[in-house]
Amino acid sequence: MNVRVKFLGGAGTVTGSRFLLEIGFLKVLVDCGLFQGMKDYRLRNWEPFPVDPAGIDMVLLTHAHIDHSGYLPKLVKEGFSGPIYCTEPTLELVKILLLDAGKLQEEEAAYAQKKGYSKHEKPEPLFSMKDAERVFPLLQPLRFEEEYSLHESLRVTAYNAGHILGAAILKLKIKGENQEKKIVFSGDLGRYHDPILNPPADIPFGDVLFMESTYGNRVNENAKVSGQLAKIIKETYMKGGVSVIPSFAVGRTQMILYLLHRMQKLGTIPDIPIYVDSPMAIDVTQLYKNFGHYHHLGPFLDESDANPFLHKNLHYYKTQDSSMTLNHLRGDAIIISASGMATGGRILHHLYNRLPNEDDSVIFVGYQPEGTRGRKLLDGEKTCRIYGVDVPVKASVHFIEGLSAHADQKELLEWSEGFIHKPKVTFLVHGEAESTQALADLLRSQRQWNPIIPTYMESFELFSGI
Ligand SMILES: [Zn+2]
Repeated sequence: MNVRVKFLGGAGTVTGSRFLLEIGFLKVLVDCGLFQGMKDYRLRNWEPFPVDPAGIDMVLLTHAHIDHSGYLPKLVKEGFSGPIYCTEPTLELVKILLLDAGKLQEEEAAYAQKKGYSKHEKPEPLFSMKDAERVFPLLQPLRFEEEYSLHESLRVTAYNAGHILGAAILKLKIKGENQEKKIVFSGDLGRYHDPILNPPADIPFGDVLFMESTYGNRVNENAKVSGQLAKIIKETYMKGGVSVIPSFAVGRTQMILYLLHRMQKLGTIPDIPIYVDSPMAIDVTQLYKNFGHYHHLGPFLDESDANPFLHKNLHYYKTQDSSMTLNHLRGDAIIISASGMATGGRILHHLYNRLPNEDDSVIFVGYQPEGTRGRKLLDGEKTCRIYGVDVPVKASVHFIEGLSAHADQKELLEWSEGFIHKPKVTFLVHGEAESTQALADLLRSQRQWNPIIPTYMESFELFSGI
């Protein structure tokens, strides 16, 4: 039997992760991500899928992030009808994220029609919320560290990857006529000292490894985060202002809630109300509560005093009406709302309301790419366009670095040390050119590995005649 891989995305870029494995006649797609970011990449989402989706036997998902799962509704729309295997928390997270992505696609199409900038008479979304729902019945749950036989020649085990709730490293055992081979997909790897998630599991053996390289050229120190955050919140409180934190619904919001709760217990910030104003962030936080055994805060979620997701200062605001009441608050409050890059969502009305007030603070807790409102605010622009109005920026705007959910350079190397035998072949994926190259150089010089950096649509024979 022969085994091949084709890189349908996630090669030379951090988005559109999708790797096609051909195991004899069995076609397995590992991850099914959406391309995001630059237009050249985004256009790939609209191209015909490189293989007939109806001919793919199954999908394996490492985790729920849209750059790993967001193409699923389109794949199903184009004829895929096989099972999609993922961990239990990923299964629930994917539903929330795909529905949100479908809604955004629908809104974008409606906006394009209103503005008339689409060359189509009636611009269509890439997929709708209805298309997203058609993915749900295909999702099949896996538990960590249990081996599942998915086909006579394929068994799969998911191991904890950290990163976000339910994120998995996947180990595939391929059974040929004569030999068994192991293929490991790192997925996205998390941090080694994350207060909520467990560190990525060591995988001692693998014949072929697909390893992420997002931060192959960067070291992210997170030691100073609490101190910086506390200082800004305290100063804002002393001025009588409100601190507003634009935050991503998955992972980052829960991390911020953990930090704020700990700071209030230590007394480094005042005992003031914290409002979570994002229905999606609230749903995701509920999943962190439901899947307590998937992270190390689990044992504390029953004790209200130690539970960062349920305590006297914390308020969840789900409805639009309750959200609007927050506009009247003057001082004594911390508001967490989405989206994290201020590209849409309820955070916009908070910024509209808070930016003109010099006593208030806006605290970004994630990377803000070029072109986003977040980037412009951090670059010190004097006005910010929201709802068609140029809002004056008087509030203080801050950026807290080091809260990334990705393993940094040191941690990627640390994870590679878990391999007792070096993999015969290592592909470095999920990274921009410089970071992937930097990691490749380090693996060569420090570990005597000889990694390959694949390109988009490139294919390789992994095993022949096994
Ligand atoms: Zn991810």
